Amino acid sequence: MNLEELKNKQIEQMKKKGCLPKTDIEVVLHLVEEVGEVCEAVREKQPKEDFEGELADILWQLNKICWIHKIDLEEIFLKKLEKNACR
Ligand SMILES: [Mg+2]
Repeated sequence: MNLEELKNKQIEQMKKKGCLPKTDIEVVLHLVEEVGEVCEAVREKQPKEDFEGELADILWQLNKICWIHKIDLEEIFLKKLEKNACR
């Protein structure tokens, strides 16, 4: 499953639950919150499973932002990889 497919699966689930994001600001705040939770997991040396869960939460929020702005995360990541290879 690629990133676009993961995003679509997530959005389908969120539609069914009626919890699609309303604004990108709301999602950005959640993203920052999740980054904080990753920091906390590292600082507190939480179990690997918890750390992994927090990392997945970051992708969850990124997918929401990408859905709102109709961005293909995999495509822009590949562009970034190409750009960085030329530096
Ligand atoms: Mg979390």
